[in-house]
Amino acid sequence: MKCNKSKPINDHLLRSWIRCRRKAWLEIYGDKQKKFWTAHSTLQLNHQIDCFHNLAQKSYGIGIQACEEGKNIAYGIRLQYPLIKNRIIKGNLPVLRKTSGESIWGSFSYQPVLARQGKKVTREQRLILMMTGLLISDLQKYQVQKGLILHKENEIIKVEKIRLSENMNIELRESLLNLEKDIESKTPPPITSNRKKCTICSWRKDCDTLAIKEGYLSEVSGIGAKRELLLNKIGINNIEALAKIKHYKLKEKLDKFGTQHGDISKQLILQAQSQSTNKVIKLNTAKELKNLKQAKGFLIYDIESDPDIKHDFLHGFIRIPNNLYKEINLKKIKYSPLLNLKKDTENSLWKRIKRKLNHHEGLPILHYGETEPISLLKLGLRQGASTDEIEAIKKRFIDIHVLIREYWCLPVRNYGLKSIAEFIGFEWEQSNTDGARALLWWRQWKKSRRLNNIYSKNLNAIFKYNRDDCIATLMIAKWLIDQE
Ligand code: SF4
Repeated sequence: MKCNKSKPINDHLLRSWIRCRRKAWLEIYGDKQKKFWTAHSTLQLNHQIDCFHNLAQKSYGIGIQACEEGKNIAYGIRLQYPLIKNRIIKGNLPVLRKTSGESIWGSFSYQPVLARQGKKVTREQRLILMMTGLLISDLQKYQVQKGLILHKENEIIKVEKIRLSENMNIELRESLLNLEKDIESKTPPPITSNRKKCTICSWRKDCDTLAIKEGYLSEVSGIGAKRELLLNKIGINNIEALAKIKHYKLKEKLDKFGTQHGDISKQLILQAQSQSTNKVIKLNTAKELKNLKQAKGFLIYDIESDPDIKHDFLHGFIRIPNNLYKEINLKKIKYSPLLNLKKDTENSLWKRIKRKLNHHEGLPILHYGETEPISLLKLGLRQGASTDEIEAIKKRFIDIHVLIREYWCLPVRNYGLKSIAEFIGFEWEQSNTDGARALLWWRQWKKSRRLNNIYSKNLNAIFKYNRDDCIATLMIAKWLIDQE
């Protein structure tokens, strides 16, 4: 692999590097055909546009000319400067806001503005703000003291002022030097041990293939960055080695770092064995899946949410009127999507959900993971449901995720719905879809729902996706029964 010493560093590359060193390297040298689109970046961009839209003022302009004319807001400025020796650093600054100061243009200056998603300001946002602050300082010949970070909280745009400190400056320059070293290297940095970051990365498929081939410990469900380090310390560096070690030996060694590590040693070994041999391992052979076996029918329940405004916008149900031993005819499955357009229309949503649950009173409610029961019970409590009502609903829930974890060790990297459904051979009707994609469809639909075309297209896509989530849950439940 050739390296390119003259490649300029830009804010996009720095962002990638802060997320994962390997990602930055792949952005330059990786085979672009292996990169795939994720809804996450579009969600981020749309969120940024929403936030910046809020800054809109009468006095605005585009490019450096807007600064020269002293406009309140300047959009789309591209700057470059050798922030570190012999290396041009380029910045694509979407928005600058006018503030006090003494710049080359008069008695005012400009400060950088960013938008963020998520709960807290991250290292990535602080360093990017610092970098853009330095570029503006160089342009206007006046030091930027503070930058602004916008974020949305319950549909309201909030503004945080971040002081650009000397420590941030030092951290930025160190990061740029390390990034430079990485992109001058002929080989890519290793796969990150914090594989959670990979969920939203467009290079995921490429890195997954390599990690599986090389037997990386981070591939084993239950091993995060910290645990991988502990295993390395005791001489276990790949899945094969973990699969071969005796349980009592591993427990003894891991107990030294805390019993929480020793306690899951058996689970880790079994998981490694399952993944390295590509075989399923049954865990609870004596226990029975009583409530799944005895039910004469089921409701299956799945929610789609907008996490930024804590809004569960779709409560999807499917119903099957018979037990899980019979063949399931997917075409005959009845799907009911209950939409909740706004957070303040919960009252009518709760009535519709209650009607559905009461209508199928004897049926257990299957779901995958803890989100659905937590959200539904909270909704009930907010709408004044009695303790008896809540308890009765609680008893009907069967978490298929918990059952899978209790009964089986499977050759999968994680036990999420997508991963397990894929393992048992279920395919979503729409390819390359996930929760982020559904959220993107939802937000696009909300904005454009008066245009009939997009109205039905996006909403139908969300319904199809949610229906398939429900069916995937059902098929995993059936798989559990079929293995008995
Ligand atoms: S998939 Fe993971 S390891 Fe690979 S580049 Fe992305 S974040 Fe880094």
